[in-house]
Amino acid sequence: MEFTEIYCINCRKVLGIYNIRFYKEDKINELMKSSHALHVREGHHIVTRKFEKTSL
Ligand SMILES: [Zn+2]
Repeated sequence: MEFTEIYCINCRKVLGIYNIRFYKEDKINELMKSSHALHVREGHHIVTRKFEKTSL
């Protein structure tokens, strides 16, 4: 399964990890404007990173 991780460089923490199947790029952008708006408003630098996770 593939995931998108939203990471705030200023806070040095992961804000959320979202399954790509349910959260496409536009949904991620939406989340950044809603759930993580506080960081955006503070002028924090937020990056997204895709990674793959295999469940056994
Ligand atoms: Zn932040």
